Amino acid sequence: MDRREFLILPGALAAGSLLDAAPVTPWHQKVHRVGQTNMTERDMVDLNIEQWADYWASAKVDALLVSVTGILAYYPTKVPFHRRGQFLGDRDFFGECCTAAKKRGIRVIARMSPDLNWEDAVQAHPEWFEKDAQGNAVRHNEDHRLFRTCMFSTYYTEFMTAIMREINQRYDVDGHYTNAWPPLGRPPACYCEQCKRLARPGTIEYWEQFNQRVLYLWKLYDGIAKEKKPDSLFYGNLGGNVRATPDLKQLAEVCQWFNCDNQGRGGDDTPIWGCSQQGRVCYSVMKGRTTTNVTGGWSTGGVRWRNAAKSPAEETMWFDETVASGMVIWYSFIGAQTGMGEDHRWEAPAREYFNWLAKHDRHFNNKRTIANLGVVYGQRTHLFYRPPGNFSAQQYVDGLYYALLEGRFLFDFVHEEDLGAENLKKYTALILPNTALLSDEQCRQLKAYVDGGGSLLATFETGMYDERNKKRTESGLADVFGIQRAGEIRGTLGNAFYARIERQHEILKGFTDTNWIPGAEYRLPVKAVDAPVLTVVPGYVSYPPELSYPPTPHTTEPAVVIREKGRSRLVYFPGDVDRTLWHSGHTDISRLLQNSVRWVLHGESPVTIEGSGVVEAFVWETEPGFAIHVLNYTNPNMHRGWIREYYPIGEQKVKMKLPPGRRVTRVELLRSERAVPFRVTGGELEFTIPRVVDYEVAAVE
Ligand SMILES: [Zn+2]
Repeated sequence: MDRREFLILPGALAAGSLLDAAPVTPWHQKVHRVGQTNMTERDMVDLNIEQWADYWASAKVDALLVSVTGILAYYPTKVPFHRRGQFLGDRDFFGECCTAAKKRGIRVIARMSPDLNWEDAVQAHPEWFEKDAQGNAVRHNEDHRLFRTCMFSTYYTEFMTAIMREINQRYDVDGHYTNAWPPLGRPPACYCEQCKRLARPGTIEYWEQFNQRVLYLWKLYDGIAKEKKPDSLFYGNLGGNVRATPDLKQLAEVCQWFNCDNQGRGGDDTPIWGCSQQGRVCYSVMKGRTTTNVTGGWSTGGVRWRNAAKSPAEETMWFDETVASGMVIWYSFIGAQTGMGEDHRWEAPAREYFNWLAKHDRHFNNKRTIANLGVVYGQRTHLFYRPPGNFSAQQYVDGLYYALLEGRFLFDFVHEEDLGAENLKKYTALILPNTALLSDEQCRQLKAYVDGGGSLLATFETGMYDERNKKRTESGLADVFGIQRAGEIRGTLGNAFYARIERQHEILKGFTDTNWIPGAEYRLPVKAVDAPVLTVVPGYVSYPPELSYPPTPHTTEPAVVIREKGRSRLVYFPGDVDRTLWHSGHTDISRLLQNSVRWVLHGESPVTIEGSGVVEAFVWETEPGFAIHVLNYTNPNMHRGWIREYYPIGEQKVKMKLPPGRRVTRVELLRSERAVPFRVTGGELEFTIPRVVDYEVAAVE
């Protein structure tokens, strides 16, 4: 995407208001830091507004979220059932905050929560609320005085719009934002009168109706924001990583600002890359348009302390991932009394980080990623596919992701609805990590990609279902890979299957002293092929050891199917190797996947980063040149918990192929804030990053 394309924004087109405007980059596209003291009701008496605004000004934020809400009014509203906060008194708290921010040159986004309201509203407007199967309004699970509203009801088209228009009328706001909408998890099953007319919750038909409603409301709200001024906008709360609920490709057509409510990880087994993975999801649909990720300065995770600061090392890594993956940091903490009053530890690390970031802003003005590998992000698979063993479909991506990090590949996510030739032309290869649901059209696009010389690697049930989740007899990509199904999915007892080495191949590099390697936990049997590289040794018991030997030591069933067609290289694994890697952590499977990816890429990479440690890398073409981002995940808390401290890694040798005629005058390491020597030979740039603590950015000019 070039600069000119940035200027033509689908949201503005939908609103029809910017068509004749002079071509300027919208203000929100230039935002680098966003702040939020997520205001409690008590803040109406406790918050020192000047102190609040001074803190955020000292952190150099470009925009602040200020609560209008919908659950409680932070200003003297006249909208019926917009209950004024009990400590509001005669004040216009929102107005005062708005003025204090504006005085410091900070943009103001009005924050609303359309998800809950009180019992008096239930009495007067029962139609606004979500109903259970018995027809009762559904109470909030934590505070039982509140009831859940229904997004298909007039609460969203009459009540919320009245608040938005009231705000527009009274205040100089730059945008409207809804917390808690669209819903982050699965859409709730509601039995109100409107919802009874919809398809059954959980079905694809229902999801499509849900998407239509999301688009309708989004456009409605964005139109209202633009009634104030043409460069104002609405955006809602998104996130959920690869498990996002709304159809992101569709939504990106109208969405000018993608915010991820992805505040951090906690005690559950979330890998550290949970933030940069979210960045890849966003980039797949937003392509560099405004994307923010909320970092909660509070204690996120399985057990919550919303008013106590988290480990600064963990928080900083979340910041690092946000900016490395091309997003903008939105830093949030709850409550002034609890936040600024009791626990001040959230303030300093963010202020320090933001000031560092501000110094180097221009190197974070990204134009596009540099990557030759695409990972197909199958949103329908994540929402509707039911994996054998009842695992989360995310595990297929997680396993592959881990292998890609270990192999230090540069890759993008590619949304399943974006498989057109124009979008795929930069990629040498695409990976389909058990992308089970693919439409006929998507399969046709992938075939065209292969016919054009593109390579594919797919696993397990890829293409076994159409976009309506209807099972096919053969994978939609069967003829591309030259495979034929030979039965139903097989699981294992105690001992998973093995893959017997039949002949040498580049995907087996490094496997010496063994005739077989681990297979996968589940597999979809396929018919024999000529000259197989790996064949299946079926699983058997792991106990008792007396019987732990293969009753059938040799078969002709392939454990991998490899093909070459012109320049195109094709690898299909009938087993769920990606998920098995995630489940087992097995190093052989990671090696097999890395070798296979390297082979389908013909060993090519636009940038290589060699050195020890587990890193995630992003390379961006930026306004001044290029930026090579290296995140150091080498840490005992990579897979679980929070980072306590960093374990620095040593020399990372970078090689980058420069575009023809491109000159380099300077390579600066932004975290260590020093220039490093470099050389350019035969159009290749080489330099060394001596050490990476948590994160380094090499800015090439
Ligand atoms: Zn409903």
